[in-house]
Amino acid sequence: TPPELIRNFCIIAHIDHGKSTLADRMLQETGVVEQRLMRAQYLDRMDIERERGITIKSQAVRLPWAVVDEDGRETAHILNMIDTPGHVDFTYEVSRSLAACEGAVLLVDAAQGIEAQTLANLYLAMENDLAIIPVLNKIDLPAAQPEKYAEELAGLIGCAPEDVMRVSGKTGEGVIELLDTIVRTLPAPTGNADAPARAMIFDSVYDTYRGVVTYVRVIDGNLTPREKIAMMSTKATHELLEIGVISPDPVPSKGLGIGEVGYLITGVKDVRQSRVGDTVTTATKPATEALGGYKDPRPMVFSGLYPIDGSDYPVLRDALDRLKLNDAALVYEPETSAALGFGFRVGFLGMLHLEIVRERLEREHDLDLISTLPNVVYEVQLDDGTQVEVTNPSEFPGGKIASVTEPVVRATILAPSDFIGTIMELCQSRRGTLRGMDYLSPERVEMRYTLPLAEIVFDFFDMLKSRTKGYASLDYEPDGEQEADLVKVDILLQGDTVDAFSSIVHRDKAYPYGVMMAGKLKDLIPRQQFEVPIQAAIGARVIARETIRAIRKDVLAKCYGGDISRKRKLLEKQKEGKKRMKMVGSVEVPQEAFIAALSQD
Ligand code: GDP
Ligand code: MG
Repeated sequence: TPPELIRNFCIIAHIDHGKSTLADRMLQETGVVEQRLMRAQYLDRMDIERERGITIKSQAVRLPWAVVDEDGRETAHILNMIDTPGHVDFTYEVSRSLAACEGAVLLVDAAQGIEAQTLANLYLAMENDLAIIPVLNKIDLPAAQPEKYAEELAGLIGCAPEDVMRVSGKTGEGVIELLDTIVRTLPAPTGNADAPARAMIFDSVYDTYRGVVTYVRVIDGNLTPREKIAMMSTKATHELLEIGVISPDPVPSKGLGIGEVGYLITGVKDVRQSRVGDTVTTATKPATEALGGYKDPRPMVFSGLYPIDGSDYPVLRDALDRLKLNDAALVYEPETSAALGFGFRVGFLGMLHLEIVRERLEREHDLDLISTLPNVVYEVQLDDGTQVEVTNPSEFPGGKIASVTEPVVRATILAPSDFIGTIMELCQSRRGTLRGMDYLSPERVEMRYTLPLAEIVFDFFDMLKSRTKGYASLDYEPDGEQEADLVKVDILLQGDTVDAFSSIVHRDKAYPYGVMMAGKLKDLIPRQQFEVPIQAAIGARVIARETIRAIRKDVLAKCYGGDISRKRKLLEKQKEGKKRMKMVGSVEVPQEAFIAALSQD
């Protein structure tokens, strides 16, 4: 297809504003998916995506669409729709999907208005120089306020309110007009046909049968099935086994030219050999300069993952090795814990990524897992000049520390202006710094904060939601590091540190953390023959203390005497229980107590 007949676009929206539903309607209207085969969220292929109603991996489909000009002449066009992931953990993948397009449909729920991710995605689209088509969705809803939000949206992107389109992904209203507008207003791709081939990878997925499937957008030259390809970041070359387009199932083709979007199969088995953001070129006549914007995925959050049944350790190891083929951002290394046994320290892009990985391990490999409290990555500078990267709190150095730095993010919060005070209070309690504030309308405000990642990544969003009756939305992106007064709090049982509970916290929060953890453990650990002190400490300094009192003699006496079979049963039970007991020094702790203490309240 000549580039002037191609339009590449993505749909960007805040979560739940109807992106996947609109994509479904487009598949239907363009005849790519037959009515009878249509199912909701056609493009969300992973089970987890379908269940949670979110899109994790990008997808691209080729849609034929003919427009009729003033003289009644019909011209067939090709639209490539790239569905982008909708979560802050995957911002980098979103930015690559956007970079593969010339335009974006900016979708806003006509009953909700602009939200934080609407803005975040719009800014990403603008950074990539995309043409924007503003669209209000869900106009079928009785609560829709299209006039009001058309004005808000027009004000944001600087167009007239009449230029804001109105559609319903549910009823299909306005979808044909939208497809026509995409052809008429978005620029066609341009590139150098004679230059060496350059194509950008915007997604790569592992398929059990075909190996890694790489999704690309060709910028210059063309890719053909007969030529070997090379990855520009690694210089690795691969045979091309198949090249094609998705419509909506893979169809092999004779090649991909300028502006075209499609897939490559090379037979590699690991997505790390086909990285999102990398440039594909031909091995025989390689391009000299890669397309910009490639970044290595960087884990932001770490957690220990342990099998509840210690004998599952090899299963967990194999499961991680398998999952890694599928997930270029997943990193892990073996780790042992006195409390939890053998497991792995695993790095994730964020909390959603952590939940997805854990769920897939448990579901696809039939594992029961326990994860330790997640933490961010700290850089510790020692007095002697050495620098240590800490991904596990129990490895926080004990020597003389010169400084500790933690990652920070730039956060955008959108909320009704009534909640400004509440939000400021919350952000203040999370060590946030207000960077700026803008009114989108008299009753809607955008607040920008710098916040430590550790303060925002775990429960901040839930807090924000509950304090604003669900009206606030949040988005954030990494914004470097800052020095902070951070300390490691250890939890000790009878003087022995329980590694799984060590945590790095701001000095002001050390005491509340110590009291909370000591209190929790006091309730969870059964009494022993002797008194067990539980302490929270910073280095050698104890900051909180609880005591588990010893078992009284008469309780012990009850276990003896009585009939013989009952006694045997009791012994049997105790033996079984013993297997699940962990020793911390001389204290016996049932594993359930650790699990309960580590699970969220
Ligand atoms: P996404 O998170 O942006 O992909 O949003 P979805 O497409 O999953 O839609 C979120 C919810 O809004 C689902 O319950 C949809 O059924 C509903 N929805 C989507 N589009 C429309 C629409 O045009 N009208 C109505 N009434 N509901 C819609
Ligand atoms: Mg979706």
